[in-house]
Amino acid sequence: MQEENLSSRDKKYLWHPLTQHKLGKPQLPITRAKGALLFDEEGKEYIDGIASWYTVMYGHANEHIVSAVTKQMQTLDFVMFSGLTHEPAIELSEKLMEILPGNQAKIFFNDNGSTAVEAAIKMSLQYFHNNGEKRDTLIAFENGFHGDTFGAMSASGLSSYNGPFEDFLLKVVRIPVPQGDNIEEVKSTLSKILAENDCAAFVFEPLVQGAAGMKFHSTEGLDALIGLCQEQEVLCIADEIMTGFGKTGKNFASDNLENKPDVICLSKALTAGMFPLSITSCSQKVYNRFLSEEVHKGFFHAHTFSAHPMGCAAALAGIKLLNSSEILERRASIENLHNSFADKIQDHKSVKEVRVMGVILAIDLNIETERYGNLRDELYSFFLEKGVLLRPLGNTVYVLPPFVITNEELQKVYDTISEALNTF
Ligand SMILES: *Cc1c(COP(=O)(O)O)cnc(C)c1O
Repeated sequence: MQEENLSSRDKKYLWHPLTQHKLGKPQLPITRAKGALLFDEEGKEYIDGIASWYTVMYGHANEHIVSAVTKQMQTLDFVMFSGLTHEPAIELSEKLMEILPGNQAKIFFNDNGSTAVEAAIKMSLQYFHNNGEKRDTLIAFENGFHGDTFGAMSASGLSSYNGPFEDFLLKVVRIPVPQGDNIEEVKSTLSKILAENDCAAFVFEPLVQGAAGMKFHSTEGLDALIGLCQEQEVLCIADEIMTGFGKTGKNFASDNLENKPDVICLSKALTAGMFPLSITSCSQKVYNRFLSEEVHKGFFHAHTFSAHPMGCAAALAGIKLLNSSEILERRASIENLHNSFADKIQDHKSVKEVRVMGVILAIDLNIETERYGNLRDELYSFFLEKGVLLRPLGNTVYVLPPFVITNEELQKVYDTISEALNTF
């Protein structure tokens, strides 16, 4: 009997995320990956134009990272992180402190992006609880995305994800992102919210909203909003899960801000895509609020795989590469090439807006709203057919390649997008 291929075996028992299996096409089996390339069962190659959800920034199967993780698993595979500690976590906390904004003082480990945000929200609520205050409201941007656990989902403003759960979420008041000439208006909306609610935290994706379609907002505007919150002691939580580790040009998007967040969430590129791990960092002020003679004022929140040594080893190897001369050169080249391509296509009739920040390129297509849903799927298939993995968000096509993508590979991504612009 002929062996079934991976696609048909996949269908038998697997349930994929973000997939309507009644309508969805079969999942594409990937058997191997190297650098910016993915290979399928037939050996066809695809350029990973979005670094597998912006995680694999130093390329797939990067030998420095593979070797660091291999060495780690042969030395110390895993131990629990309550009562025990280990060098990979200690060293990672030291290295993160060197690159995080200066007001960050403590690192709390989690195992994925959503749980990093979840911990940040719980920290904020308990921060006030420990002081005998009840603050029950979160502030968040419209169309933000912070993950799929309940706290993180509450802060998220994308209704396509939240629909069935709306009735079960935390109390959140939403504000528009500060952009163009609405800054004064958003500031006064926020002031009003702060005056009328018991606000514990303001959760935001700094400068770029990823899942919303790589939408940018104003640095000055965000700075002003953080300033207003901090005047009322509302804790500001920067969700840098997408923006962290060089995506926006600086190490972190928060590096562009005058007012530094009280809490920062990191995941995705933290481990260069090698291992699920995340951290929630905070200022000394936040940490101190949990110090007490009373045990229950500590932070009683844990995940079994907190600070997994293999994840820490991958993160340490990644941070070593982040500002190496080779990667810095690539980061600058990608930004330059993105800008030239953006100039070239900005007047194309199918382009509504094109924007670049660091290694992020986003193109909003000039298409009627009714076509968004289908168009997204058609574009996704069109790109795959041509050997490029891009996952359009609504009517936005974005490129966020691994830093190690070659100029030729990047050119092929642009050529494929140009072809799509002339086709759709
Ligand atoms: C991906 C993402 C998350 C959620 O991370 P998971 O690891 O998928 O749970 C949260 N916030 C932002 C900004 C993200 O991009």
